[in-house]
Amino acid sequence: MTENLTADLDALARELDAEHVFHSWSAQGSPPQLVVASGRGTRVWDHSGREYLDFSSQLVNVNIGHQHPAVVSAIREQAELLTTIGPPTVNLARGEAAKRIVSHAPSGMSKVFFTNGGADANENAIRMARLHTGRDKVLSTYRSYHGNTGAAIVSTGDWRRIPNEFARGHVHFFGPFLYRSEFWATAPEEESERALQHLRRIIESEGPATIAAVLLETVPGTAGVLVPPPGYLAGVRELCDRHGILLILDEVMCGFGRTGRWFAFDGYDVRPDLISFAKGVNSGYVPVGGVVISDEIAADFDERIFPGGLTYSGHPLAMASIVGALDAMESEGIVDHARRVGAEAIAPALTELAEKHAVIGEVRGEGVFWALDLVADPETRAPLPAAEVGRIKGALVERGLLPFVAENRIHVVPPCVVTAEEVEQATAIYDEVLGTVDV
Ligand code: PLP
Repeated sequence: MTENLTADLDALARELDAEHVFHSWSAQGSPPQLVVASGRGTRVWDHSGREYLDFSSQLVNVNIGHQHPAVVSAIREQAELLTTIGPPTVNLARGEAAKRIVSHAPSGMSKVFFTNGGADANENAIRMARLHTGRDKVLSTYRSYHGNTGAAIVSTGDWRRIPNEFARGHVHFFGPFLYRSEFWATAPEEESERALQHLRRIIESEGPATIAAVLLETVPGTAGVLVPPPGYLAGVRELCDRHGILLILDEVMCGFGRTGRWFAFDGYDVRPDLISFAKGVNSGYVPVGGVVISDEIAADFDERIFPGGLTYSGHPLAMASIVGALDAMESEGIVDHARRVGAEAIAPALTELAEKHAVIGEVRGEGVFWALDLVADPETRAPLPAAEVGRIKGALVERGLLPFVAENRIHVVPPCVVTAEEVEQATAIYDEVLGTVDV
């Protein structure tokens, strides 16, 4: 292809998009301009060959990196054998995918219900919890995102739930977040203890016997990579146990290597009843999600129907991509790599950036899951205004780095396979752009 023709393809892609694609979460009058035509590992390209370092992992899902050959060939092989089959059949790829997933879950969780993505994973986890307990309320935090469908969007705590709030039975509370503490805490243990006291009061006030489940992102992601303080998750588990409430951990964003562990909750003394997953399980190569179910809850549906499922649940291409992705992640030690590159390259680089740039109020994270909390004033911790954050985002893209930006934060969330050299390259770009912010 000549350079002209490839530049023409970028223009054509933009033109078709602007004319015919109605975008999610967007005002339609200002369509996106960034064209992504191909990818490999931590990098993507447009048709003209312009390269970007993908430090967003798209929507924090491409954990294994773009176009991993083992996953692409697993999908290709399955496509040649059988491209679609309905859920009420037995299929080898489906059984294998489920087995591979539960091999990373706690013992006593041996079944998987497959969905098309993360939102419907939460949807079905909530449905199972309600049917199993016979109760209807679901408690979740204000700083959370659980997906953009019926119960999942109403469980979401941030602004996105408000235009959708027609369902009953959803109650929100504040989880721990020391840097912007709701509890006037000054130390992690104090934040943990006070957040647990707050949840205890909410449970008592709502009536424990009306509550089916507490739904929590183990590490809230789009809310700002809020790594829970010591004792918090174990304390939530204890409160749930005391009142016969189920604990659903949403591992859609934080699971499958993102934190440098298979599941984020592996780092805490907690065992959920239901685990929702999606994104990293197959890096989004084919849409898929699901729920890992405790044996006790699964057995509850031995004699009665579980009223859930979609035409494409357990789709063979998705199943093959899970097996391919987990094979590659296991054999190449990708989860360990994410933990090491986080501790040895990302953490020191971001700490150094924060020492240099007063606009970085806090650096939080682990593995390949980090956030820079940007402030207009380090003393008051007032968030950096949206217009300035937008300018920073544009400047990063212009310099060839795809960032994940949420509210006043840059989330540093590359694929798990990112190298120390790529971290260094990205850090130089963050450094240059943050150097233009006047704080
Ligand atoms: N749960 C969490 C924690 C998420 O981050 C997301 C998406 O970002 C979802 C659920 C929804 O997943 P999906 O967009 O695949 O429906």
